[in-house]
Amino acid sequence: MKNKVGIYYFRSLYSQSACSLSVGRFSDFLLNRGYKVKLEVLKQNDFIDMSDKIDGILGQDIIIYKTNYKDFEYGIRFFENLIKREKDKQFYLIGPFAVLNKERILKKYNFITDIINIQDKNEVENVFRKYNKRVVKKTIISGIDREIEFKEKGKYINLEASSGCIYNCSFCHIKLMNYEKYTKDVRNLVDEMENIINLLDKRYFIFNDSVFWKNNSDNDRIKEFIREVKKRNLKFYFMIYLSLTNKIPDDILIGLKEIGLIRVFFGVENISNSFSKNNNKYISATDTENFIEKLSNLNISYHIGFILFSPYTTYNELKENIDFLYKLKKLFRPGIIVEKMRILLGSKDANLLYEDNSKIDQAYNYKILDSKVDKFYQVVCDYFDKINIRNFEQFFSGINLSLTILNDMGLSEQYEVFKIRYNELLEYVNDNLYKILLKMLKKFEFSGRDIEMLKNLYSLAEANYITYISYLKKHNLDVYQMIPHGTEDLNVW
Ligand code: SF4
Repeated sequence: MKNKVGIYYFRSLYSQSACSLSVGRFSDFLLNRGYKVKLEVLKQNDFIDMSDKIDGILGQDIIIYKTNYKDFEYGIRFFENLIKREKDKQFYLIGPFAVLNKERILKKYNFITDIINIQDKNEVENVFRKYNKRVVKKTIISGIDREIEFKEKGKYINLEASSGCIYNCSFCHIKLMNYEKYTKDVRNLVDEMENIINLLDKRYFIFNDSVFWKNNSDNDRIKEFIREVKKRNLKFYFMIYLSLTNKIPDDILIGLKEIGLIRVFFGVENISNSFSKNNNKYISATDTENFIEKLSNLNISYHIGFILFSPYTTYNELKENIDFLYKLKKLFRPGIIVEKMRILLGSKDANLLYEDNSKIDQAYNYKILDSKVDKFYQVVCDYFDKINIRNFEQFFSGINLSLTILNDMGLSEQYEVFKIRYNELLEYVNDNLYKILLKMLKKFEFSGRDIEMLKNLYSLAEANYITYISYLKKHNLDVYQMIPHGTEDLNVW
């Protein structure tokens, strides 16, 4: 009987739980067809961790790797070298990155059995024919295998109320993949949350819906959600993704706040008009600032998606957008500065991409058309390469999120000193990075002193974070466990 399936993936976002909802659903589907499924999160460059997992991987009949553009080049070589002598294994790739690059990947890596679009019911049913009766697995909650979340100790968890998106931003794969649009029945959704709380003791829900409230047609559903949570008297915190293309009504935002909304993510991307026109994303600086004010009046923290560099970015637009990030005090997030816009194969600007056969991902293979912008981009990347920018961001966003929760719990007085220190540091980092960025924008270079300043800022932020987080752990462990820890590990304690 060859029915043992292992599904593996690497963690790509550190600000969420380690789970992959699509993998969890796929596992449930396979169990239903009689396959025994094991899920595992792998860690890049950690040979100790991998050596613990290797027997488990090689013990499977079918190995499935859910890949992502960030881990593909590492992961594909890892699996190729691991299983090339294991002739009896089937090896599949899943995930949007693999599907969008299917042709190139299969041409280059002939050890792969196939690439499957798990969103396509017919395709998966053809590959995974019904084998036997359903295999029982205790980690299923509401049709999703939560094996990883049972092992993950943090009290945060991803889930979805709906899928698909009605917008069409040019840089996004959601539309290109033509995902099925569905919305969960509200009672089922709240049942799912209640089960997660009871079985897993998770307290911070991270809604992965592309857009949680899309337009007024969602009003009744969201109001019902608010009513249902209040009726059951459930206590939790949660975050949602929004688009500012349509404005969420105030009463809905307030209702969501009342049942635990503490964080909103929305994509601003870029405030220049030409970016909006080129990429079908229309969000102005004024809309953003008005919305942020509304959120801060409600004690809701926020996180923005931003793209400083795209193929058509002009030199003048750089200053405009850096000024905007400075005003929002977001320069502690160099990640949004150094990651230029991805151009997906099959999207409208795909003709700007040049071919590079040394790797599969082609989405960054373009020159920014304005040569000054391209030069600045190289300098900025070189500069921020001197520190670990993911950690740097965590030193701020981790504190910000927990202070929001503490405030909601009425504990802000106890953390007043930390709050003052955090705000002073945020200001100091923002001011100094702004000065350096403006200098680089003029001279296209940075000095040894600029590097020293960056390293000092990193160290200041690190020391502040460690002091804060260790206090939080001692005094409010429940809040500490609700904050995504910001590293690739599944667990850090
Ligand atoms: S609103 Fe978000 S999910 Fe929808 S197309 Fe734009 S980037 Fe993608």
